[in-house]
Amino acid sequence: MSKSEVLFQQAQQHIPGGVNSPVRAFKGVGGTPVFIERADGAYLFDVDGKRYIDYVGSWGPMIMGHNHPKIKNAVLQAVELGLSYGAPTAAETQMAELVKSLVPSMQKVRMVNSGTEATMSAIRLARGYTGRNKLVKFEGCYHGHADSLLVKAGSGALTLGVPNSPGVPLDFAKHTLTVEFNNLQSVQQVFAECGDDIACIIIEPVAGNMNCIPPTAGFLQGLRDICDQYGAVLIFDEVMTGFRVSLGGAQQHYNIQPDLTTLGKVIGGGMPVGAFGGKAEIMNSISPDGPVYQAGTLSGNPIAMAAGIAALTELKDNAEQIYAQLDRHAAQLCAGFQAAADAADIALTTNQVGGMFGFFFTTEKQINRYQQATECDIEKFKRFYQLMLQQGIYLAPSAFEAGFNSSAHTDEDIAATIQAAEIAFKAL
Ligand code: PMP
Repeated sequence: MSKSEVLFQQAQQHIPGGVNSPVRAFKGVGGTPVFIERADGAYLFDVDGKRYIDYVGSWGPMIMGHNHPKIKNAVLQAVELGLSYGAPTAAETQMAELVKSLVPSMQKVRMVNSGTEATMSAIRLARGYTGRNKLVKFEGCYHGHADSLLVKAGSGALTLGVPNSPGVPLDFAKHTLTVEFNNLQSVQQVFAECGDDIACIIIEPVAGNMNCIPPTAGFLQGLRDICDQYGAVLIFDEVMTGFRVSLGGAQQHYNIQPDLTTLGKVIGGGMPVGAFGGKAEIMNSISPDGPVYQAGTLSGNPIAMAAGIAALTELKDNAEQIYAQLDRHAAQLCAGFQAAADAADIALTTNQVGGMFGFFFTTEKQINRYQQATECDIEKFKRFYQLMLQQGIYLAPSAFEAGFNSSAHTDEDIAATIQAAEIAFKAL
């Protein structure tokens, strides 16, 4: 037995499913999850000493690779000063200024500890601000595990086949109106029916939790227009796209200004962090200035702020080179996978925006809808996954997750990954 197998058996005796977040259990691909011992640059090293080229990057935040020296040193320095105070620090203002300078629609920012907290708080704020109850979300989009958002959700909920979660009272779920991604008409329809009671639209501007599905031309602008027409709040959940598809996130890439933005792990350089922010007028409704309550003992934690400031500063200072490389490498990967699949006569379609990509085992030439993503050949994906893992390529262990590269990935890493894919497609 490998050490990972032994550790997984032990973990299952003490932790539900042996994991602290469902997708890690490899239910989406079968087999034993790889237990990680350490990570550096573009690589993960498992407990059995095997090296993997990593395309998960802690599900997004490792945009400059693991163990980045500047982030690590910032954390080490901050640790010397104590781990948490539960009182204001200068670093929190510095962090807020930095986030605002990069994502200008965020006129005021509040720090939280996870993406789930960010979206949950943003929705409460939108409801409190508008005095309305309903929210509109898109099938296959995942926004964390708050009650209102676990309706037709993507990511692990979709991988495990429970997108409508037991435990969420129908009384909550009835306020979540689910519509089709990239289908403006379905949005117009729900607004025509009950627009006066819709507080907000929340969307992943590039969907990354039903594989990777970019918005079609005009779709995000259409959402902006509908929100303006009905006085609803437009929330971009940029937990995945923020600082990834461009320095200013998807809102910069597509030039659409949301009212509120949620950010996650990426702004903590790997520490548990999230944030939400947006128009000052809306953010002023948050406690203690306004009536909408939101709080957190560890929010703005000094270690997390130190890591986040170091990460965002590094991204800002090297943006041109980093974002060009992320885009070039992700495009190379997609083209390489496509060519390798074509050569092996395997039907494949790819999507990519900046350092975010997806590949679909399908005969369809374009994937822009949730249903298309769910109709792909999942069994083929699972076999492909295992063949890649054997060759030391660590992809997201589910057909319903986007892939992420980092600026630590070299040309050689990308070439080695494509070479492994050539072997895998031939073996399928
Ligand atoms: N929103 C999006 C778009 C996400 O991808 C995720 C998690 N991957 C979340 C919210 C929830 O973030 P967290 O897991 O940090 O709670």
